[in-house]
Amino acid sequence: PVLRVAIMGLGGYGNRVAEAMRDCVKAKLVGVISGTPSKIKDWQSRFSIPEKNCYNYENFDRIKDNKDIDVVYITTPNGLHHDQVIRVAAAGKHVICEKPMAINAKEGQEMIDACKKANVQLLVGYRMHFEPKTLEIIRMRNSGEFGKIMFFQGQCGFKIGDPTQWRLNKQLAGGGAMMDIGIYAINGARYMVGEEPIWVTAQETKTDPVKFKEGVDETIQFQFGFPGGAVASCLSTYNMNNLDRFFLDGEKGFAELQPSTGYGPIKGRTNKGELTHPHVTHQTVQMEEMAGILLEGKQPSIPVNGEEALKDLKLIDAIYKAVKTGQKVDLKG
Ligand code: NAD
Repeated sequence: PVLRVAIMGLGGYGNRVAEAMRDCVKAKLVGVISGTPSKIKDWQSRFSIPEKNCYNYENFDRIKDNKDIDVVYITTPNGLHHDQVIRVAAAGKHVICEKPMAINAKEGQEMIDACKKANVQLLVGYRMHFEPKTLEIIRMRNSGEFGKIMFFQGQCGFKIGDPTQWRLNKQLAGGGAMMDIGIYAINGARYMVGEEPIWVTAQETKTDPVKFKEGVDETIQFQFGFPGGAVASCLSTYNMNNLDRFFLDGEKGFAELQPSTGYGPIKGRTNKGELTHPHVTHQTVQMEEMAGILLEGKQPSIPVNGEEALKDLKLIDAIYKAVKTGQKVDLKG
């Protein structure tokens, strides 16, 4: 069987996912949800989408009666994910939601609960969880090739343009760089170290309070401590370029990814040499694998479900709390 996907939010990333799905064997774009009739027309002709699989934000609850759609992939601004996921779940469809799944852990938990109640699956667009060089480093770490893990460094950022975009609007974005690119360092720290942080410290710097308004973070540096003794030092920013780098250090070896989370090609090396796995389009592999998860009950090696996303949201909450209070936030309890 083929996973029949409808995309909600026909913007930049929705378009990227749709194009990547052309190369999928197990997943196919069959429907759209959009508030813009002209975009629906354009997507219908580009992807041969029948009229009966086209919805807008008012009527998409009716997807409940559509037997030709299995899952809705939500690629709208972050602040809308919570309500949209809950509506899709209530319509009895599986959901794939873009990262960040929500703008805080409370919302995230509500989304998980709603999907559980509706007996549908909730997956989150963590495309790096299927990236071959990333998975090879994790395999090497698990087999002990780096020895005891001591340190992770994650640097994620870019200089953001247009000050009027939703990414700089607290309501729609939920925050600033942390909600967009910083989450890669959080998620990366967890999958590269292979443990869950037990404490967080964080410091914010803002050079442009006009562009980055109250509640929209420009630059945050944060640190994690892990139960095995490893520490992480990370940077999230909307005001510096060329920051896309992970470094993992163990007592017997190291791994470096640079670029580490861009659309690719990802470049990686360890103390044993260059990683040579061929580049794959992340979104194509992600959708093939997610079809396997949703249709065949396949288990990914790094989870991509709501619970996994909730762990990142709890850390984002903790980072914002640490910034606000200036205190170390203890996560053990
Ligand atoms: P975008 O601005 O290009 O697209 C957003 C779409 O949502 C637009 O088509 C817009 O019309 C629509 N929309 C619906 N309701 C809206 C509203 N009330 N206000 C504003 N827009 C509204 O943004 P994008 O880059 O496609 O990002 C969408 C989501 O995808 C975000 O959650 C983002 O974090 C995520 N994303 C993930 C990746 C990844 O690599 N996994 C990459 C880019 C974006």
